[in-house]
Amino acid sequence: MSSVWDDLARQLAERHSQHLLRHRYTVAGPQAAHLVVDGQRMLAFCSNDYLGLANHPYVIEQFTLAAQRYGVGGGASHLVCGHTQEHQLLEQEFAARTGRERALLFSTGYMANLGVLTALLDRRDAVFEDKLNHASLLDGGRLSGARWERFLHNDLTQLEKRLRRSQARRKLICVDGVFSMDGDVAPLEDLSRLAAQYDAVLMVDDAHGFGVLGQQGNGLCELQGLGPAEVPILMCTLGKALGTFGAIVAGSHTLIETLVQFARSYIYTTSLPPAVAAATRASFTLLDEEAWRRAHLQKLIALFRTEVAGLDLTLLESTTAIQPLVVGDAERAWQWQRALRERGIWITAIRPPTVPPGTARLRITLSAAHTEDHVCQLVEALGQVADALPRQEA
Ligand SMILES: *Cc1c(COP(=O)(O)O)cnc(C)c1O
Repeated sequence: MSSVWDDLARQLAERHSQHLLRHRYTVAGPQAAHLVVDGQRMLAFCSNDYLGLANHPYVIEQFTLAAQRYGVGGGASHLVCGHTQEHQLLEQEFAARTGRERALLFSTGYMANLGVLTALLDRRDAVFEDKLNHASLLDGGRLSGARWERFLHNDLTQLEKRLRRSQARRKLICVDGVFSMDGDVAPLEDLSRLAAQYDAVLMVDDAHGFGVLGQQGNGLCELQGLGPAEVPILMCTLGKALGTFGAIVAGSHTLIETLVQFARSYIYTTSLPPAVAAATRASFTLLDEEAWRRAHLQKLIALFRTEVAGLDLTLLESTTAIQPLVVGDAERAWQWQRALRERGIWITAIRPPTVPPGTARLRITLSAAHTEDHVCQLVEALGQVADALPRQEA
């Protein structure tokens, strides 16, 4: 027997003893306000299905119709024979929505970020990343071989210092639009000004903004009034507010053609099922036709923050659907999760290394699928748990 297995078992045991072991819970049925988790019906506040589209009848219908026309599998990569009309239309519609020349569909957001960063950068270049960026942006930056410069969260003074002294051939500034574990947003206008000043390019990952923010639901760029000149590389995922799967990168012809030629995570993988692309196009239609979903979500966010203000709990500053409650160390977060579960509320605790040590949290997310009454039930349970758990030393 190889000692590798003993070593791995030790590593797992250590993670377990630190309350850091990751678990999977099995859900029966679709994403909705209530989930059946490991056989128990729970009111859930941790999905990224912010608009309640993952189980929308129109999205399901268009998915089903496309499956009847195209079958299930994409069959090959996009560059062989897997690029269908559904994929093409989705890219065109997204480019038009966001005012970009072209767009390119990737199988996942993780792959999109890896693809963009490795296609654009190599050892001669530098990538400037917010420390709280999503793992896929951090991994893509490292994989590219570029000089990997991280700056403190939203600290533009530190970013500017690094830009000023950089000798790199290409400079890429890369941020989450809405930060996935904190819910706050990046100051895109200031970032774009710095990019222009130091001959850098700005890339924004709007995984948690697209669909939710802006009058038309076109995300943080729309909300902050910025176009392709300010944000030349826009990445959005489709598995969150759009309720389907995949990710899309939009920008100039030069950007997209570079990705088609050089992004290995685009080139060497099977196209996603055409029916998923059709379902996403249905979600685009709903962004326009059911704008009430965004308005309802905003109302729930405001209600939640008002109601929690009456409790002895501190939420992070966030105006988005992500409303994190930082509770302390991993064990504490675990206790919160268990106590909420006993009260019929499902929120998975987020622990290190996903978030920094000592900032384990309940990443509470709200959705248009929730009602005001659901939010009140959540707040009531939070209050009960805060009272029931023993005080923690500061
Ligand atoms: C979820 C997420 C991704 C990854 O997208 P997937 O399609 O789930 O792979 C990338 N960036 C951010 C900010 C995310 O939240």
